[in-house]
Amino acid sequence: MTTAATTYDYDLFVIGGGSGGVRAGRVAASLGKKVAIAEEYRFGGTCVIRGCVPKKLFVYASQFPEHFEDAAGYGWSVGESSFDWGKLIAAKDKEIDRLEGLYRRGLENAGAEILATRAELVDAHTVRLVATGKTVTADRIVIATGGTANPHEALPGHELCITSNEAFHLETLPKSILIAGGGYIAVEFANIFHGLGVETTLIYRGKEILSRFDIDMRRGLHAAMEAKGIRIILTDVIDDVAKNPAGGLTARTKGGETLQVETVMLALGRDPHTKGLGLEAAGVKTDARGAIIVNEYSRTNVDNIYALGDVTDRVQLTPVAIHEAMCFIETEYRGNPTSPDHDLIATAVFSQPEIGTVGLSEEEAAKKFADVEVYRAEFRPMKATLSGRSERTIMKLIVNAGDRKVVGAHILGHEAGEMAQLLGITLKAGCTKDDFDRTMAVHPTASEELVTMYKPSYLLKNGERVDG
Ligand code: NDP
Repeated sequence: MTTAATTYDYDLFVIGGGSGGVRAGRVAASLGKKVAIAEEYRFGGTCVIRGCVPKKLFVYASQFPEHFEDAAGYGWSVGESSFDWGKLIAAKDKEIDRLEGLYRRGLENAGAEILATRAELVDAHTVRLVATGKTVTADRIVIATGGTANPHEALPGHELCITSNEAFHLETLPKSILIAGGGYIAVEFANIFHGLGVETTLIYRGKEILSRFDIDMRRGLHAAMEAKGIRIILTDVIDDVAKNPAGGLTARTKGGETLQVETVMLALGRDPHTKGLGLEAAGVKTDARGAIIVNEYSRTNVDNIYALGDVTDRVQLTPVAIHEAMCFIETEYRGNPTSPDHDLIATAVFSQPEIGTVGLSEEEAAKKFADVEVYRAEFRPMKATLSGRSERTIMKLIVNAGDRKVVGAHILGHEAGEMAQLLGITLKAGCTKDDFDRTMAVHPTASEELVTMYKPSYLLKNGERVDG
């Protein structure tokens, strides 16, 4: 049984069928609200359709050559292997179709009306459905349109480049690729393409990749990627891209390099997807980047309009968008005002090896606390002993010596993402280093290092390193 507020067509109209929008629409509908949700492309959003999920499937695909090599050390002889890009894409597309179906069914089962159309605001309570030109009204409106890859229009030849969107549907696997950027997407795709046999170069403007991560993770991953054969160019950017006579692309860099590659991929951040949404007509304010400005309850400056997820440019992560959607539901439909908690978000970079991290980096902790203890372990993972692979795992705990709380945990190594999820609970619970110390190790695992680093590797006093 659905209820519609007296004068409107819907209680809630959601624009955007990604992680945040689908969650808000589905739960509101299951609470008996009359809900419509409009999506111009495919349900599931960036995460499911051309982000986290297909990316992780690509990561798995790209790991097999190392698995085959490692097998020899364990007595296996693996026959000749070959890779078929077309088969991977087809299998990935089938899985994405299945997941999209689940998203749609979830909405339908909850009683939400699915509208396959772009939707634009006409005023604070009215939405125009672009496919039909029809307008509908709603008591509350949620904008969850996500983000789009920054096309970097200032770059001459940008139209010849791809972004992560196209990377999921390339007709053929290129022989060589130049990836611009040093963030999550650039680093993950550099590892994916390299693992699949593509000659890979990454170019980043900063001094070290992954600017927002702990320095040991950044340096450790950089070294591991170079050891595999990925070329990393730092403190440089692409100046222009042009077609070359061989049918590929020539990229010239500010630093004076000329690179001939088959494909150039730009991974230079993602912009809030707000262009042409009718925000001005509805009076919704945005910031200089076009992100919708919201208060602590995800409410815009217009009382009945809310925005969730990447379109607000708070923290661009799927679980954050879902959490913001659940807080919206609590606040608006369960009478329990709840603001999203953006503190201590565990995250992973699905590079090879992975990075798993939660809390403050060493640098951030040094700025925040007068006395910091850094516990650091670097070792060869057990699997590498027989495989002979030269790789290192790095684990780091950052402790505020003032109250003994673990304020940061960082791992570079296999399954670091899985470990980060569990470490996230301990940091959220406010565990101290003593809690870690009195926890029994699970042996033999890599993560046992996290509870057996009894002495600090070094201390930081007022931001300065003091070897302990
Ligand atoms: P990021 O913000 O992670 O990285 C953008 C990169 O582009 C940075 O290295 C940045 O440099 C660089 N950059 C930005 N503008 C320019 C410019 N004009 N010239 C040269 N370099 C530039 O964005 P991504 O595109 O990699 O990913 C978007 C978001 O998606 C991420 O922030 C993340 O939240 C999310 N994501 C999460 C994943 C996960 O959870 N595993 C995976 C993929 C994406 P600088 O650092 O110097 O600013």
